[in-house]
Amino acid sequence: MDGQKGGLLLVMAHPDDESMGSGGLVLRHTRAGIPTYLICATYGEAGWTGKPAGAKKEDLPEIRAKELEEAAAALAIDGVELWDYPDGGVSAADHPQISQRITEQIVKLRPRAVVGWGPDGGYGHPDHIWIGACADAAIVALDEAERPALYHLAVDQPLAEFYREAMRLGASNGGLALQPQDSVDIVIELNADEVMMKLRAIDCHQSQLEDWRIAIRSHQRLMQQGYGREPYITVSSKAASLTGGGLLGEFG
Ligand SMILES: [Zn+2]
Repeated sequence: MDGQKGGLLLVMAHPDDESMGSGGLVLRHTRAGIPTYLICATYGEAGWTGKPAGAKKEDLPEIRAKELEEAAAALAIDGVELWDYPDGGVSAADHPQISQRITEQIVKLRPRAVVGWGPDGGYGHPDHIWIGACADAAIVALDEAERPALYHLAVDQPLAEFYREAMRLGASNGGLALQPQDSVDIVIELNADEVMMKLRAIDCHQSQLEDWRIAIRSHQRLMQQGYGREPYITVSSKAASLTGGGLLGEFG
């Protein structure tokens, strides 16, 4: 398409969303040589869990920025924009400004598709909900001919069951209020190699690894059910077609 550089842009809220939420999708594309970019709205400085051992709470922003850099390298992401909106405070941030900045990145990078959080925020996280809304608005602000396709991360029934089951394996802070969709449009199914590569990226986020994320490693079926499947909703597919195989059909 004229003026289209192609590629994928992820718009996320926290360091680790990209790996835990969309690591498989990213790998599918980067491994095929498709340029893939990430906007991360916060440093995730509110996610203090006492890890990694020896870390100090005041160092968390720096620790998480480093973890994101490592995870992005593990996923072969081409460029990361790490913004410093307050973790836990995206709902009260300047949304028109955020949308404007996302629009600027879209204009600069010319992605064929944008992937972001939907109105459920995955598990209702307000930062997810608001950064998702800002990404949607950023796309709407473009002329129709310039708009990339838009997809939202989704939770379906098997993924919700995975979280319920997996979180029983280790202490977790109350669990996630997952809101499975009645139906999703796309499920990316990862093979065992891809699951391992995704796990390597997730493991970069040492400060965020709950006990259950360690415990599930000896449960092959759970790993495949949870890390090996990524559901997405198609919001607008005008310019690209994200399929179970990724965007490859459109790029090949
Ligand atoms: Zn998040």
